[in-house]
Amino acid sequence: MKIHIIGGGIIGWSTAWYLNQKGFEVTIIDKEKTSNGCSHGNSGIIVPSHFIPLAAPGVIAKGIKWMFDAKSPFYIKPRMNLELFQWLWQFYRSCTPERASKAMPALLEFNQLSKSLYHQFFDKEEFDFFLQDKGLMMFYKSSKAEKEEKELVEKAQELGLDAKILDNAQAQQLNPNVKIDVLGASYFPSDSHLDPNVFMTQIQERGLKSGIQQMSSCAIKGFQTKKGRIESLISTNGKVIPSDLIILAAGGWSAHLAKQLGIRLLLQGGKGYSITVDQHDNKPEMPVILNEAKVALTPLDNKLRIAGTLEIGGLREKINLKRMQGILESVPHYFPTLHPKMLPKEQIWHGFRPCTPDGLPYIGKHPKFNNLILATGHAMMGMSTGPATGLLVSEILQGKKTSMNIDLFDPAR
Ligand SMILES: Cc1cc2nc3c(=O)[nH]c(=O)nc-3n(C[C@H](O)[C@H](O)[C@H](O)COP(=O)(O)OP(=O)(O)OC[C@H]3O[C@@H](n4cnc5c(N)ncnc54)[C@H](O)[C@@H]3O)c2cc1C
Repeated sequence: MKIHIIGGGIIGWSTAWYLNQKGFEVTIIDKEKTSNGCSHGNSGIIVPSHFIPLAAPGVIAKGIKWMFDAKSPFYIKPRMNLELFQWLWQFYRSCTPERASKAMPALLEFNQLSKSLYHQFFDKEEFDFFLQDKGLMMFYKSSKAEKEEKELVEKAQELGLDAKILDNAQAQQLNPNVKIDVLGASYFPSDSHLDPNVFMTQIQERGLKSGIQQMSSCAIKGFQTKKGRIESLISTNGKVIPSDLIILAAGGWSAHLAKQLGIRLLLQGGKGYSITVDQHDNKPEMPVILNEAKVALTPLDNKLRIAGTLEIGGLREKINLKRMQGILESVPHYFPTLHPKMLPKEQIWHGFRPCTPDGLPYIGKHPKFNNLILATGHAMMGMSTGPATGLLVSEILQGKKTSMNIDLFDPAR
């Protein structure tokens, strides 16, 4: 059986990895020669702490307020677009306490499964991607944010996840190499971090050696279908690629490809930026998220990565310098001795998070075609949950009981 995976990000490669391990013949197709997409320059935080879906109560009010600020962390570009309206409507409908509480245990289990799989990779001799189990802190400065973080910690504890609230002195004690000025922090000791680019390079190199095939610089633009079956893929340069089974893992571009198959997939690309600066000291010990600014700082070896913003505005590659400036300006409010400088435009990385309106991924077979599997929509946590997605897809293909219940991730929901 010839399996083709569209998309060579963390989801595509993790899926290829587990399928290859089970003896399937797999080819990864990517439109880029060397991908530098969402799975490369992200913050690299492995986040059991992120069990609350993006669409949660309170998000709408915050989003509306932020829309009028050019440097804000969240922005929806207003445009006349039916898919965007449908997405926003579903997003609005999903922001209820009932839906959020249903999603939470599933997201936590998904993240924990994936974290254990990262450890399995790390224990293999041929992998070393700086995986560190130092936890995550979320800093806050306002009493409003303190209330949010306290609620988050309570929910985490109810779900059995280790979490606590720290004051400034306690946060400082755990991060002795940089000055901290906050009201407090929530602390999630069981989060981890890694260097995403290193992991992506290693899984590709090891995967190719193990027999995974790769077609790069090959953009898929359409499909040939017959009686509920996809027969082949068609690339922009006219190549027809016959296939027995297709896995759609094209990140932020997945909705566009699904549309070519007559499938309405509600998914928007949520653009985010990062810069990575040389920083030997004067940096936190572990990843930190700045609550009010929604900015993440990750210590990576001798570097520091600073990332943020979520722009729902189509798949436009243009860099918005004001938003990057907003990210950098937020840092000294929490770390008074850290003043990261703006880098030239070409050194600002950006990626499109594949965002679903209910904050849950699409993983599973699609009823419209008997040889199509979707694996996309991981939004803010795709780096964390890539390995679990790969394992789950391999189990679906083997007809095995999946390692966790994925009913909530059904692509046809
Ligand atoms: C600033 C930022 C910080 C983040 N931080 C974290 C974090 O700390 N932890 C975490 O878990 N997640 C994080 N994320 C989210 C995470 O990066 C994404 O969820 C994840 O990378 C998505 O992976 P993917 O494989 O679905 O998509 P991608 O990595 O975007 O891969 C999709 C691939 O499909 C290819 N493709 C698209 N269309 C076609 C086509 N027509 N034909 C062929 N190929 C095609 C693209 O070239 C691309 O290589 C962050 C994201 C951003 C933007």
